[in-house]
Amino acid sequence: MSGLPGDDVPLDRLPASPSDQTATLGSPDVAEEMEESVNSALRFFDLSSSVALLTGYEYWRTRAVRAVGLRQLVFSDGVAGVRGVRLSAGDPSVCFPSPAALGSTWDAGLIGRLAEEVAAEARRKGVDVVLAPTVNLQRSPLAGRHFESLSEDPLLVGRLGAAYVTNLQRHGVAATAKHYVANDAETNRFTVDVRVDDQTLRELYLAPFEQLVTSAGVWVVMAAYNSVNGATMTESPLLTTPLVEEWGFDGVVVSDWYATRSTESSAQGGLTLVMPGPQGPWGPALLDAITADRVAKASITDKLRRLLRLAVRVGALRPQHRRNLSLANRTSTARPNGATLPKLLREAAAAGVVLASNVGVLPLDPSSLRRLAVLGPNSADMPIQGGGSCEVVPQHSVSVLDALRAALGTTVRVEHAVGAPIREGLRPLTQTMATCVSCGRPGVHVRYLNAEGEEIRNEHSPDGRLIWLGDQLPEGATVEVAARIRADTAGTWRFGVAGVGDCRLKLGGQVVLAEVLRPARPSFGSSFLDPPQRSVDRELHSGEQLDVVLLHVPEHDVDFVKAVLGFRPPQAEPGEELARAVALATAADVAVIVVGTNEEIETEGRDRTTMSLAGRQDELVRKIAEVASKAVVVVISGAPVAMPWRNQIGAVVLAPFGGQELGPALADVLLGVTEPGGRLATTWGGEDADVPVWATRPGGGVLSYDEGLDIGYRAWAKTGRHPAYWFGHGRGYTDWMYAGIDAPGVIAAGEDAAVRVRVANIGDRRGKEVVQVYLVRPRSTVRRPAIWLAGFAVVTAGPGEVRDVDIRIAARAFQHWSVADHGWRTELGTFNLSAGRSAGDRPLAAVIAVTGSDQGD
Ligand code: BGC
Repeated sequence: MSGLPGDDVPLDRLPASPSDQTATLGSPDVAEEMEESVNSALRFFDLSSSVALLTGYEYWRTRAVRAVGLRQLVFSDGVAGVRGVRLSAGDPSVCFPSPAALGSTWDAGLIGRLAEEVAAEARRKGVDVVLAPTVNLQRSPLAGRHFESLSEDPLLVGRLGAAYVTNLQRHGVAATAKHYVANDAETNRFTVDVRVDDQTLRELYLAPFEQLVTSAGVWVVMAAYNSVNGATMTESPLLTTPLVEEWGFDGVVVSDWYATRSTESSAQGGLTLVMPGPQGPWGPALLDAITADRVAKASITDKLRRLLRLAVRVGALRPQHRRNLSLANRTSTARPNGATLPKLLREAAAAGVVLASNVGVLPLDPSSLRRLAVLGPNSADMPIQGGGSCEVVPQHSVSVLDALRAALGTTVRVEHAVGAPIREGLRPLTQTMATCVSCGRPGVHVRYLNAEGEEIRNEHSPDGRLIWLGDQLPEGATVEVAARIRADTAGTWRFGVAGVGDCRLKLGGQVVLAEVLRPARPSFGSSFLDPPQRSVDRELHSGEQLDVVLLHVPEHDVDFVKAVLGFRPPQAEPGEELARAVALATAADVAVIVVGTNEEIETEGRDRTTMSLAGRQDELVRKIAEVASKAVVVVISGAPVAMPWRNQIGAVVLAPFGGQELGPALADVLLGVTEPGGRLATTWGGEDADVPVWATRPGGGVLSYDEGLDIGYRAWAKTGRHPAYWFGHGRGYTDWMYAGIDAPGVIAAGEDAAVRVRVANIGDRRGKEVVQVYLVRPRSTVRRPAIWLAGFAVVTAGPGEVRDVDIRIAARAFQHWSVADHGWRTELGTFNLSAGRSAGDRPLAAVIAVTGSDQGD
């Protein structure tokens, strides 16, 4: 709140001395103890100090109230790793597999193990609240943040998201279920009004949030930017019902950053905390509204209580007036990231890699390889994460090209060509071509200068990409980024800058560019998500060195700032580059073509307009398919892409953005060291025109979810048409037989069903299978999807082994949301159950009759 100068909220009534308090030692009930802690702190707040706490102190922090032992709460993105309050190369983050990659593992146990490492990262970076997981649904493949969601299926999202929340929060680090709700695309995300009927809302979009609240007890929910059925989410009645009234949510509802638009409507509802601060629509305006009885005091007390509860949970409230309170003395149990982390990240990345098709090409046998061509735009410049507020500076990343080179040693000649470039913009200077002018290490030297030109601080950065998120630089401060680059080939090199504000570029000591850059399409976040670029070309001979310096005065009043000192190496004529790739493929024993998207194409703030691969990638694949003795295509992307050539290729591997160990993990999969463990968590349509749920662009401000319950595989099943690859699809390097299913013939309404599926590994190597159980309700009298996922389990087995896989089908899977009754109801009668390896391949069937009363739970 702007009225307060410091980060500390002063209190008029100071806490009483310790001797006045009754210490509760060893309270048997942790929840009770927490409430006691909250209540005792609460007594010291008056209205003004309460309101002061309900808006952030700054971009990532809330205020402290030291007099009651409350320190600041620190929030940080996000879904692919914990960035911390500064995005700095000096303090990089573990870059975890993106949620799309986690979704395709289908493995809650593995996600739980990763969440423990996220907790350790959070503690290392002093973060209390991680702004993850995203549990929106992958409704349209165009969605810019598709890669940030786990799946198109609400059950899968809920189960995996709950595993993440449980294992993160075990360590005293809060998770955030976001973005509540129906924030499933980017176009006009601040203003769009999503119109969705109640049944669809309950059964699809709210369902994962419900699971995270009721079974994982998530501590924070983020209210989204968009509106649902006319109400912007920070004011939506959905923040009260069902969130609090039905699901019993006792945590904090934080606004998405800058999403709060009103004082009274938002404060009267379920929103707890306005972020970021210190400005915002609450503060003094809210105090006035309360004084004028337009907002009830009780609602402020409720919000404060929730915030204090969160503080106790993460160990940020240690009331000084209490002694020995076990919860108040709580410290995180998260240990530092262990030496096993790289192994876990590699395992997790491979577990999300989907082998879509394989006609005996994979795994590659290194002993029969002499020449391997590794081609395509994503093979060397390999994307490991999507773009937007979730981006982290990874600790390191090894491309699949380098990982294959390392794995194959000198016995195999590995050759590379990009073939079809896709980066439109400049690439940040990389450590392979830039050396820090100060320390001589690979990377760039960054200096921060004040308005007088004095150095405030300096740091080393591994690349030429700098991002400040809410990390305000002093007014007028200049950032100087300097490196010496070495040209590894002769030709026309391009150097330039991307950013908003005053930019000067020097090459070899001379200013070659000086301009104040403004975003082309100014909008919230555009200086970060879509900064303008300028560049100049320079002829260099092979081995020539050049000093490159960017002097940048970022715009002061924007909170997200990105500045890139970038380059583009000499480009062959497009035809020549393609021909070079084709020539390498012709001469090789095997051509591995790595295509896909990247963080420029899939990013927050913008939806795609097509699933087609950018540039000439399709042409590249087709030409190589014609000449190569064996061809493998690896698609690295966060969302489905169109693959018109997919049936002409020996093996197709789909790799969602897999984090910092994706390169080695892909090499493991291609060489058969590791099983391709992924199964699609989203349906892949063949081409744009086939995809049943497509549009993300609102008309007249409204985006109608007219398809209702039928998104993803449900929609394909309804139309009776076949996608390129079904939800759940993915092969391993072994074969499985679905041998039998055992399901109860009859269950009572409201009961879970225990189903057992017998599978046998009939191949010759150990493998993983994801056994999936679906339900169909023939002749339903209520609106239903044609088919829906009801349960699943991951199983591994050695060759020849048989496994009985127990899968619990929750009672909810048999229920539907009755709008008339405003409750869950079970339709009595027969449900057809089927089990198999994808929504489109279900060899086993059983019938379950549901009896009893059709009352809901
Ligand atoms: C995004 C959130 C993110 C927040 C803070 C918003 O623009 O929608 O997902 O957590 O920024 O960076």
